[in-house]
Amino acid sequence: MKNNLDRFREKLIQEGLDGAVVYKPENRRYLSGFTGSSGYVVVTRDKNLFITDFRYVEQASKQCEGFEVLKHTEDRTVYDILNELNVDKLGFEEEFVTFMQYEKFNNKLQDMELVPLKGIINKLRMIKSDDEIKKIEKAANIADEAFKHILDIIKPGITEWEVSLELEGFMKKSGATGTSFESIVASGKRSSLPHGVASQKVIEKGDFVTLDFGCVYDGYCSDMTRTIVIGKASDKQKEIYEIVLEAQESALKYIKSGIKGFEADKIAREIINDEGYGEYFGHGLGHGVGLEVHEAPRLSPIGKDTLETNMVVTDEPGIYIHDFGGVRIEDLVVVTKDGCKVLSKSPKNLIEL
Ligand code: ZN
Ligand code: ZN
Repeated sequence: MKNNLDRFREKLIQEGLDGAVVYKPENRRYLSGFTGSSGYVVVTRDKNLFITDFRYVEQASKQCEGFEVLKHTEDRTVYDILNELNVDKLGFEEEFVTFMQYEKFNNKLQDMELVPLKGIINKLRMIKSDDEIKKIEKAANIADEAFKHILDIIKPGITEWEVSLELEGFMKKSGATGTSFESIVASGKRSSLPHGVASQKVIEKGDFVTLDFGCVYDGYCSDMTRTIVIGKASDKQKEIYEIVLEAQESALKYIKSGIKGFEADKIAREIINDEGYGEYFGHGLGHGVGLEVHEAPRLSPIGKDTLETNMVVTDEPGIYIHDFGGVRIEDLVVVTKDGCKVLSKSPKNLIEL
């Protein structure tokens, strides 16, 4: 199978480019395997260069298979090295490169046209290799274990912040190198905040608690959400929970290779709309997950990408009612030819703690 770098070069040539400079950390890692924090991947029609400074030369030489590693210095800058290459049209990451960096490239590069890569790498990254899927699955397993663990910890009187610390500590002790994002622990009325990161609020009896979290394993992220109730759920809590669950599971049954992002979104959205809660579901159904926790494709009313086998996406509808609370349920899944494989194994029945 072609590696990421070969597939990238093929695309570059198809787009009529002679080369590209790539340094967004996730893209850089995707193409070169480099995990450090500074360096430029330069791909031309016949060369793979990794340009970095003194601190990372040794690491890059070990990690970047198939690359010639060059050290940039004040005497021989990245621009000097680029100018030595026979490149007319140089692709760059227009979503990542700052205006200031662009101006610098533009001023220092001679007879070279800078051309936006227009998401070429994002598109390659959408479809995961078996190896990438294994890492994501491992990250999902760690998150599932953390959820099981946290159910023993959460009780009235503990703060959201303490819960998030416990979750994150557990995941790191279980092999994660970090969290995918700042954990969301939103309880009581705060659960109506779709992105309510853990606060000092004390969790109380009767609260909904939305836990949205994930971890990074060998560079790859996981992402899951469960909502539980502290004590007995009220009728209204049960009603909302069941609607979100039905929407989530219906979308899960529908997701497969060949459908478009907006079609999956529509399945869940119609169920929530029909129950009269449409205005309380204000975000898209899901997103791609990989080296970044939010990446292409998008599953939302405007998600035009077609789902393909080996894409990894989330299915996460929610209902958020101001001054009452909210529910979101999120699974991480791998798209397959006839359906999807669910990586999140935590139970989805309403848990009353
Ligand atoms: Zn999430
Ligand atoms: Zn998500």
